[in-house]
Amino acid sequence: LSDRLTSTFKHLRTRGRLSEADIDATVREIRRALLDADVAVSVVREFTGKVRERALSAEVSGALNPAQQVVKIVNDELVAILGGDARGLNLAKNPPTVIMLAGLQGAGKTTLAGKLAVHLREQGHTPLLVAADLQRPNAVTQLKVVGERAGAPVYAPHPGVAGEDEVPTGDPVAVARAGVETARSRQHDVVIIDTAGRLGIDAELMTQASEIREATQPDEVLFVIDAMIGQDAVTTARAFADGVGFTGVVLSKLDGDARGGAALSVASVTGRPILFASTGEKLTDFEPFYPDRMASRILDMGDVLTLIEQAEKAFDADEAERMANKLAGGEDFTLEDFLVQMQGMRNMGSMKKMLGMLPGMGQMREALESFDEREVDRIEAIVRSMTPAERRNPKLINGSRRARIAKGSGSTTTAVNQLLERFAGAQKMMKQMARGGGGGMPGMGAL
Ligand code: GDP
Ligand code: MG
Repeated sequence: LSDRLTSTFKHLRTRGRLSEADIDATVREIRRALLDADVAVSVVREFTGKVRERALSAEVSGALNPAQQVVKIVNDELVAILGGDARGLNLAKNPPTVIMLAGLQGAGKTTLAGKLAVHLREQGHTPLLVAADLQRPNAVTQLKVVGERAGAPVYAPHPGVAGEDEVPTGDPVAVARAGVETARSRQHDVVIIDTAGRLGIDAELMTQASEIREATQPDEVLFVIDAMIGQDAVTTARAFADGVGFTGVVLSKLDGDARGGAALSVASVTGRPILFASTGEKLTDFEPFYPDRMASRILDMGDVLTLIEQAEKAFDADEAERMANKLAGGEDFTLEDFLVQMQGMRNMGSMKKMLGMLPGMGQMREALESFDEREVDRIEAIVRSMTPAERRNPKLINGSRRARIAKGSGSTTTAVNQLLERFAGAQKMMKQMARGGGGGMPGMGAL
């Protein structure tokens, strides 16, 4: 391909790890991305420190180049903090499963009660909603409306609803407790307790919420937080973690212009998994939370995971080892091997995009800019037009064979000649590498 690309890859290959300056520049970039995403400053500091440490310790896997390795570390760390593999709701072995919702006023608890009811009903459960928010005058009515839409009955401290007889009024703790009892007696296998929010951190309401928790012994206490809360996420999450405690987080209003930083802040500070994401006012605007997607969103790296997967495929460690063994055994590097590597190179085209996001990679980026994926197609066509014998032994390819191959591949004899020259160069280099014993990225230097 180009000399520049050759030397850059050689450089990275021999260097094997990024310089400290490269890593610092990358870490700076990550810090900026996190702050832009509204991740709390303290969380950003801790996170970038960890990434820097891991990047410097150079756990460079055989298959990846160092730049990608850093991206992978960042991504892995984000996913780990965000909860690793997403988990679903913990259901009680002896129903009813009790789910309590907690969070600031307006966070989206009541809406979530309906969304959860729909979600659970779809899975064959029979949820009962309990209106334990007696703070706002219309809170109970709101939950009834939501329950009706979700097709789930609501247990509420008002006469005439769902056949309550002796419904305690005024005391949310008593309502919650009675709600769970009602679910048990009416064979609802899940109870969702909607509680009163608070505008700010309010000691009295916090006490009430922890009393409800105490009285109902929930299997899940879900802390609902507005994703748009930004930097305040840490304070709010800490207050609820200390004041009530919770087993999982639901991130709401992710459909707004929320940049997702709250997710990382809350998960990082409380160590609790995020179970669901709420993405709109409709009851169906609700989905499981995917840590990997959020990680990508936070870093605004789009499909970084896909890129990494592609790169892993392109430079599959096994393939590299197979090649190294083959060459070490004195076997020749053939045109077929050359083709396989060119095909790997095609995947590298998508690396352009990723490298564009990494600082300190200017040289490599420039080199990749000049990489043309159609070139791989042309080479592939030429190699495919050769007979197996020709591929094994290119020396067979005389003038008339050249003309035939050019015609068969829709190219020119000049192009065929150029390919054979490049291949000869690659073959020579592979021999040298085999003698040097290096696995790495065979063939890259030939391009
Ligand atoms: P609560 O005070 O915690 O019970 O919050 P509500 O469930 O009453 O929600 C407060 C407001 O936010 C309502 O207007 C909801 O329609 C709205 N809301 C709740 N969840 C979402 C969401 O995921 N996206 C959007 N855009 N709005 C939401
Ligand atoms: Mg509410």
